Amino acid sequence: MVDPTSDLGEGVDESDAHECANCGETILQSPTHRVVTWVEDGEARHRHFCSEECRAAYDAESDDPADE
Ligand SMILES: [Zn+2]
Repeated sequence: MVDPTSDLGEGVDESDAHECANCGETILQSPTHRVVTWVEDGEARHRHFCSEECRAAYDAESDDPADE
């Protein structure tokens, strides 16, 4: 039986679902989805966040503590 109220997973492969790097929440076509891309060792890397807040929080945590 297909649950007609569930549209999660329809047309969304598991490999298309990303976890927020800050809170670990699974991101499925979220309008607040943020992707940070950078290049490391010649490879493109991606980090996904469920919202701008999580992106900022992750950034703040990974910053060098310059205020100690
Ligand atoms: Zn998050």
